[in-house]
Amino acid sequence: LQFDGVPMFEDQGGYRGMLFLLQDVTDIRRLEAMRSEFVANVSHELKTPIAAVKGFAETLLAGGVDDEETKRSFLQIIYDEGDRLNRLIGDILELSKIESKRAPLEYVPVNLKELFDSINEVLLPVASKKSIQMHQGIKEHLYIEGDEDRLRQIFMNLLSNAISYTLEGGRVKVEAEIVNIGEEDEKVLISVKDTGMGIPKKDLPRIFERFYRVDKARSRSSGGTGLGLSIVKHLVELHHGTIRVESKVGEGSAFTVELPIMHTLD
Ligand code: ADP
Repeated sequence: LQFDGVPMFEDQGGYRGMLFLLQDVTDIRRLEAMRSEFVANVSHELKTPIAAVKGFAETLLAGGVDDEETKRSFLQIIYDEGDRLNRLIGDILELSKIESKRAPLEYVPVNLKELFDSINEVLLPVASKKSIQMHQGIKEHLYIEGDEDRLRQIFMNLLSNAISYTLEGGRVKVEAEIVNIGEEDEKVLISVKDTGMGIPKKDLPRIFERFYRVDKARSRSSGGTGLGLSIVKHLVELHHGTIRVESKVGEGSAFTVELPIMHTLD
């Protein structure tokens, strides 16, 4: 609690008394703490690739590396870290745009099968590089109402995580199921399941937090920024949906998104 007092005066200047204000500032303080933790995390995340770029560029500039192969590998690191900075900044801007509600959703009927076909087009080559089989079990004529680009972003993130955190030869499966809650209340449950490494129980409640990773090194090497799932959660909630995860280490993970449906035409 925060306690403030100010003296009050009449228009003519006479003393009227004191005005005391007792305010519960728990939420304000918590928000301030979260904001400064986020800024600290952002700075740390940005400093790491910048340090790598500077370090390797300095070494090359000093002229001490004669071997062509080593030179190339240093240049590759500089390029990759630049790429990583780009993705980080993109995700940070995206998150801030979503959080400040500066990006209103454009609701249109979205055909789920077409949406997943277009995502598959991008991700199939990535999956086949790791010999991961992609299965898609989505019926035709299944529509939901939502912002098409944002929905693509949600499932692109979930599917690329499923591919990243699954070993060679694994499987990734997308399914959609309609659930009737009441006459009017139709929802669609979309699940993204993988046969990957899974997530330890203790980490499950935290994976939607910004910059939270189970294994920082693996996330970095797979090109992750640690912001993907928090962007996904925000976007699902903007669509009045929910997201949950079930996972078992060594067996795989299942992310389930529940969204209000528009209509089905079969
Ligand atoms: P990242 O960019 O690190 O992938 P995300 O926010 O997308 O960040 O995910 C946060 C963390 O959750 C990841 O670092 C990873 O540890 C874990 N994770 C996400 N998806 C999966 C998955 N399908 N299987 C196993 N772990 C996952």
